[in-house]
Amino acid sequence: MKEKLFANAIEENVARIRERIENACIKAGRDVSEVTLMGVSKTVEAERVNQAIAAGIHVLGENRVQELLQKKPLLHLDDVSIHLIGHLQTNKVKMIVGEVDLIHSVDSVHLAEAIEKESEKKDLVSHILVEINIGEESSKSGVSFDQTYELIDQISRFPHLKIDGLMCIPPISEDHTVVRQYFSKMHQMFLDIDSKKIDNVSMSILSMGMSSDFEDAIREGSTMVRVGTSLFGGRNYNI
Ligand SMILES: *Cc1c(COP(=O)(O)O)cnc(C)c1O
Repeated sequence: MKEKLFANAIEENVARIRERIENACIKAGRDVSEVTLMGVSKTVEAERVNQAIAAGIHVLGENRVQELLQKKPLLHLDDVSIHLIGHLQTNKVKMIVGEVDLIHSVDSVHLAEAIEKESEKKDLVSHILVEINIGEESSKSGVSFDQTYELIDQISRFPHLKIDGLMCIPPISEDHTVVRQYFSKMHQMFLDIDSKKIDNVSMSILSMGMSSDFEDAIREGSTMVRVGTSLFGGRNYNI
């Protein structure tokens, strides 16, 4: 990397991640503007999240509803959108609808229906992604690959919901070819759903890739990478 002085470690990390994104885009023959870098700020205190915003991060991802709502008033959010990326329980829907720009983790009609009802009550439209359990792992949330079409068809009938795309967290693997196969399967489904031109459904966001695999995800068509550790360093869940 070119010699440059950074105000802090986070600014330097953003520069390094952007460089890696750029290189992955070049390898994939994609334009860098197609890929949004989300800063995953779970467990990170507001002051450091604000440093990331100052360093040019425009999208933040939080996992837990309570943490998100507590932190939100402390953040400099002009021009910054905040997304919920963690599993959402139905009983937290009331708290989160209207508070985030996108919910990445809708994986059942039951949950979608709760978001629909709350959105109607608040007279707004909620933007969501459908989370797919691409590795069919019992430990993970997400709809199974085979049931995705049916779920999207059902959700598309809710007038206060808009499906903006798909999200996944693939199984952990050291083998990049294995990980890329999962991402590729996601991308094919993303394109296939897009080609169906379903009402209330636009495939504009393919949310996949984290610190360990975002380059693979970009090679396979990701439009939003969710990066935590490489941006903020290791997380301490005990604070
Ligand atoms: C924590 C988390 C990330 C970021 O993971 P890193 O490996 O720290 O980059 C991305 N997506 C989701 C859903 C997460 O929970």
